[in-house]
Amino acid sequence: TMILGIETSCDETAASIVKNGREILSNVVASQIESHKRFGGVVPEIASRHHVEQMTMVLEEAVNQADVTWEDIDAIAVTEGPGLVGALLVGVNAAKALAFAKNKPLIGVHHIAGHIYANRLENEFAFPLLALIVSGGHTELVIMKDHYDYELIGETRDDAAGEAYDKVARMLKLPYPGGPQIDRLSAEGKDTIDFPRAWLEEGSYDFSFSGLKSAVINTLHNAEQRRETLNPADVAASFQQSVIDVLTEKTYRAAQEYKVKQVIVAGGVAANKGLRQSLKNRFNHTDTELYIPPIHLCTDNAAMIAAAGTILYEKEKFKALDLNANPSLMLE
Ligand code: ATP
Ligand code: MG
Ligand code: FE
Repeated sequence: TMILGIETSCDETAASIVKNGREILSNVVASQIESHKRFGGVVPEIASRHHVEQMTMVLEEAVNQADVTWEDIDAIAVTEGPGLVGALLVGVNAAKALAFAKNKPLIGVHHIAGHIYANRLENEFAFPLLALIVSGGHTELVIMKDHYDYELIGETRDDAAGEAYDKVARMLKLPYPGGPQIDRLSAEGKDTIDFPRAWLEEGSYDFSFSGLKSAVINTLHNAEQRRETLNPADVAASFQQSVIDVLTEKTYRAAQEYKVKQVIVAGGVAANKGLRQSLKNRFNHTDTELYIPPIHLCTDNAAMIAAAGTILYEKEKFKALDLNANPSLMLE
C-alpha cells in the first residue's frame, strides 16, 4: 500500500508518502517557526494563512520526491484532529479535494495516533506495548494490545510536558519554541535547585506539571527580589531533571505492571536529549525493548500520519467527503 499523508494541525505544513506503513518515500515539512517567533508562540490565524500558502507546494514536493504517480497512491490520510481548527481545516480540505479529484479513499487520522505510529516507521511494534506520549498538548501513558487499540492508563491533570517546557522557556526569556532551547541550555547547567516532583497518589500514572511551573516562577521571582543572580542554565537543568525523573519513573513502573514487550515514545518532547538518555539508562538490562524515534520523526510530520493511516486503510476505515476537522477529537 502507498498512502499520502497530510498534516496541518499546528504550525507545520507537511505531506509525505509512505509505502506499506513503514517505508518513507518522501517526508516534506514546511515549518512556520520563523513567523511565530516574534509573537512568542503560535498565532492561529497566521498558522492557517501559511498552511493555505504552503499546502500546494508541499504536496507537489512530496509526490515529486517520492517519484510516484497518482495511480500508485492508494489513499489520502489526513490529520482530522485534535489541533487548531483553522489549521486542521486546510489539511482536511486539501485531502478532500484530492480524494475527490483523484478518486481515492479518504482516511481521517488522530494526530496522537500519528505520533504513536512514527515509532513504527523504523521499528516494528511488539504487543503489548506501552506508549509514552509527550508533546505540546498531551502527556499520556497508553497501553496497546493490538493496532489501533488504545487504553489510556494515565494523563496530565494540568499542563502537558511540552507546554511546561515552553512556559518555563518564556520565563527564562528564551525564544519560541522553548523545548529545544531548554534542552540545549540544560547541558550547560547543573541540577542545583531542588524543584518538586509530582508523583501524585500511590500507583497513579497521571502527571502534573503546574506545581513545577509555579516553583520555577517563585524561584526566579525570589532571586530577583533578593537581587541574587541565578544561572539560567542551572534553572533549565533543574527543571528538566524534575520533568525527566517523573516521566522516566512512571513509564518504568507502568511497563513493569502491564508486563509490556516494548516501550515507545511519541511527540515533540521525545526529541529531548535528557529524556532519551534517562529512559535508555532505566530500561538498559531489562527485558523490555525501548524504542525512541529519530528526532525528525518526534516532532510534527506527515510520515507519521501516513503510517497511522495505513492501518486504517487495511481496516477499510474510510471517511466520506463530508469529513470535518475536529479540534477536540478523542483517541478512541
Ligand atoms: P500535540 O502533538 O499534543 O497536538 P504539538 O503538535 O504542538 O502538540 P509536537 O509538535 O508534538 O506538539 O511537539 C512540540 C512540543 O515539543 C513543543 O512544546 C516543544 O517545545 C517540544 N519540544 C520539541 N523539542 C524538544 C526538546 N528537545 N526538548 C523538550 N521539548 C521539546
Ligand atoms: Mg509544531
Ligand atoms: Fe504534535
